[in-house]
Amino acid sequence: MRTKLIAANWKMYKTPEQARSFVVAFRPLVPGSSRVEIVLCPPFVGLPAVVEAVQGTRIGIGGQNMFWEKEGAYTGEISAQMLKATGCSHVIIGHSERRQYFGETDDTVNRKLKAALSAELQPIVCVGELLEEREAGLTEEVLTRQCNIAFSEISGIEAAPLIVAYEPVWAIGTGKTATPEMAAEAHRLVREQAAKAFGDEPAANLRILYGGSVKPENAKALMSQIEIDGALVGGASLDPHSFAKIVAAAG
Ligand code: PEP
Repeated sequence: MRTKLIAANWKMYKTPEQARSFVVAFRPLVPGSSRVEIVLCPPFVGLPAVVEAVQGTRIGIGGQNMFWEKEGAYTGEISAQMLKATGCSHVIIGHSERRQYFGETDDTVNRKLKAALSAELQPIVCVGELLEEREAGLTEEVLTRQCNIAFSEISGIEAAPLIVAYEPVWAIGTGKTATPEMAAEAHRLVREQAAKAFGDEPAANLRILYGGSVKPENAKALMSQIEIDGALVGGASLDPHSFAKIVAAAG
């Protein structure tokens, strides 16, 4: 039985004060006893404010990116150890916007994933195909390649904290959502690759989230798929009421 997880990716939105106000409004909307895990991923500068605002709740906090070295002359970068020291439990790795605009590759995803695991962060690794790739019938090939490279040189034991988010790039921020069946098929494929890399048991325990225009209106249908273990939510996570409705749909 995999615990559902709903994660908010705020991208480059919200100042620290706006992030704090979100938590103040959001806290009373989510019951403390629910079995659904919640993670908020604000921009780096908002992390301390959000870490402080969620004190005493079960809400986890994640970074949206990291670098694989611990420290050094890497201007503008943040390490896994720094995220951990700031109070993060999670980190998003390989988001399609990082791949599209900032040169993230399957290989850098693997390096970051290994560094996150050794810093005891729970990585949320994003995979997903472009529209052209889906239309050319390449979805399976793309997901297989992304997973194979991301998962390489990691043991089943080391992979225990890993979470994967399947995010078809054509569904991110576009209002288009994969059908629950399409998402479930992609999730099965990711799980197969995880089984090859880590073994059957770690793969069976791996949580695979869906991401791409998840909204309160479509969350229930997606979350009712046995293969979908939660969601990574962008746009609809910026408003506390809409994000709370998505959390409720997963419960
Ligand atoms: C995302 O940023 O990971 C995402 C899925 O965005 P949206 O929900 O806005 O499509």
